[in-house]
Amino acid sequence: MKETSKHITDSHGRTHTYLRISLTERCNLRCTYCMPEEGVPLTPKAHLMNAQEVFEIAKIFVDQGVTKIRLTGGEPLLRKDFPEILSRLATLPVTLSITTNGISIDRHFDLLKTHGVKTINLSLDTLNAEKFKKITFRDYFAEVYRNIFKLLEAGFRLKINAVLMKGVNDDEIMDFIQLSEKYPLIVRFIEFMPFDGNQWNRQKTVSYQEILQQVNAHYGEGKVLRLKDAPHDTTRNFKIEGFKGSFGIISTVTNPFCDTCNRIRLTSNGRLKNCLFSSSETDVLTPFREGKDILPLIQENVGSKFAMRGGLSAPEDFNNPEEHTKNRSMIRIGG
Ligand code: SAM
Ligand code: SF4
Repeated sequence: MKETSKHITDSHGRTHTYLRISLTERCNLRCTYCMPEEGVPLTPKAHLMNAQEVFEIAKIFVDQGVTKIRLTGGEPLLRKDFPEILSRLATLPVTLSITTNGISIDRHFDLLKTHGVKTINLSLDTLNAEKFKKITFRDYFAEVYRNIFKLLEAGFRLKINAVLMKGVNDDEIMDFIQLSEKYPLIVRFIEFMPFDGNQWNRQKTVSYQEILQQVNAHYGEGKVLRLKDAPHDTTRNFKIEGFKGSFGIISTVTNPFCDTCNRIRLTSNGRLKNCLFSSSETDVLTPFREGKDILPLIQENVGSKFAMRGGLSAPEDFNNPEEHTKNRSMIRIGG
């Protein structure tokens, strides 16, 4: 008998095929927008998914139609068992990718290539070493910057993620785009989002419109080409005529893309989050350890997903910190 195709859908008809797994809450940077100033209480190791659990839980999702898995964190490369996790996940029929701060990515090129990882998302918010220290509280600019070129030389497809914050790095938009003139990379400007302890307010965000206005004024509107976005892409993609690479804008707050969302998040301690903005979570690790079937929990979690931004659907919802900071800090979710 032909097996019916399986998938995880929500009540708004969206099918979820993309799982983002956070491997750790630890990080070697302290980005102000991600890690609260006072740090975060770390979950004891015994309560985090081990390599075998990451694989087995991921497999349940893949059996239900997930075709893409991204490893994130915290800094995923800090997991000592990262090679084991990656090699196990590579046995599943999925596209694997990783989001990293790039500090130590060059030590893993062979491993990544062996297991079919072709695209790397590297986060870098400034091209200025002093500013890097102010944003991250650490002095690793040289390593990260060097790794951009090592990644390109090694043949990886590279996306650079920059979180834009007014008065901090919004004066560097053109410098970042300029990188795409000679290099075939994709620079993505991410709107600063509110999470627990990150001192967010609307005035610090740089909107989709503001970015485009700056770019159009600099290059001339006719030179800024709108590219076709891939299905489910959260990025609105553009290119400057004649440049090798491209740039994009991810504007969760001012220009959301929830209609086509296909993402589910699994935190390093095995909690399912159906939206980055959702303040509710489902523990799947405890029942999994007790030998229970976690599929009904997954279906229930995704089934109850809000149509938009975890229920923060009105722009005014972002005026009230009570509403938008009920969530975990980003470092403990996994971006
Ligand atoms: N450590 C890795 C890194 O920095 O790429 C992976 C984890 S990090 C949480 C994943 C992504 O989330 C990064 O691109 C980071 O810039 C983004 N991010 C973190 N906090 C954010 C915030 N408040 N608003 C928007 N993006 C944020
Ligand atoms: Fe670490 Fe990434 Fe968060 Fe920066 S954004 S503190 S590198 S997890």
